[in-house]
Amino acid sequence: MCFSLNRDRKSQMTTYGLDCKSSPNKDSYHLKELAGNICRGCGYYLPCSANIPIPMAARMGLCLRRMPYQQFMTPHWHEMMHRIESCTDCGHCRANCPYGLDTPALLRRMLSEYEEFFRN
Ligand code: SF4
Repeated sequence: MCFSLNRDRKSQMTTYGLDCKSSPNKDSYHLKELAGNICRGCGYYLPCSANIPIPMAARMGLCLRRMPYQQFMTPHWHEMMHRIESCTDCGHCRANCPYGLDTPALLRRMLSEYEEFFRN
């Protein structure tokens, strides 16, 4: 059983062009790239004085692409996302992000993606 799982994993990694012998390296280009742009939704940066639902709003681009998007196309979520316009740039979320994300900038980008998705 274990052997077949490993063989499946190896076959999948080969299919996607990944080197199954190497393990993720913290210094790799891709991990650095990902670390700078993706919110993990940890919540350490809460509370937000503008009451922005940061854990979801900061991942909205991913949510729209990887979840049933219809649940976010509601007046409720439209209002929640537009709270981003009330961000005072107090810096609390940025200072408390364990991954060093520029959360306010990420939120503005997510609002822009949300709006574009909403229009189309
Ligand atoms: S910088 Fe903006 S999003 Fe971050 S905690 Fe302050 S008001 Fe909220």
